[in-house]
Amino acid sequence: MNKQGDLIVISGFAGAGKGTLVKRLISEYDRFALSISMTTRSPRNGEKDGREYFFVTKEEFEKTIAEDGFLEHACYVGNYYGTPKAYVMEQMSKGKDVILEIEVQGALQIKEKFPQAFLIFVTPPDAETLRKRLIGRGTETPDVVEKRLLRAKEESVLMDRYDAILINDDIDTCVKDAVSYIDAAKASPKRCYEFLERIREELK
Ligand code: 5GP
Repeated sequence: MNKQGDLIVISGFAGAGKGTLVKRLISEYDRFALSISMTTRSPRNGEKDGREYFFVTKEEFEKTIAEDGFLEHACYVGNYYGTPKAYVMEQMSKGKDVILEIEVQGALQIKEKFPQAFLIFVTPPDAETLRKRLIGRGTETPDVVEKRLLRAKEESVLMDRYDAILINDDIDTCVKDAVSYIDAAKASPKRCYEFLERIREELK
């Protein structure tokens, strides 16, 4: 109902399948745009600068903080991650719903700055599935897997700050559910402010 698009935050435990969910949403629905984050972590095999992330040095990251270039930023398992501001604002003004795939601290910063942002937390059906997926992915050393599991435990405390909990048992269902949650969220008065203003004006 608004001309301006919305901010959709997608978080979830490492290994919850949020990466796959986000890829599907972007490739199957034209209305979404994906924010590419900046990070100081090293690229994994097959990752490309400017596609998965903008891979930068700690100095470059800190320079962007100083220039107020981030909508939010956070430290996750020893590395910085941040959402560059300009692209997100530009896409929202074009009417796109912009997806931020970010961790919990960043998500809560977004909620503070943009109360109309819609926050979804993606989780596997149980902790054992999470552990298996994280180990099975094979992209991380056992030490990093352990750190990510510990982080999941910390993040689970903050899940209730989200607007929706999305259980990823089956990815097709998960994609459909995500879209219906987003559609339903758009009917909330706090996301229909342009419409509310217009109809109030018309009724004067
Ligand atoms: P990974 O290293 O596995 O790509 O990402 C680690 C975590 O950082 C994931 O939970 C991911 O969603 C999160 N993340 C990615 N980009 C950003 C960002 O720009 N800001 C914040 N706060 N978290 C991010």
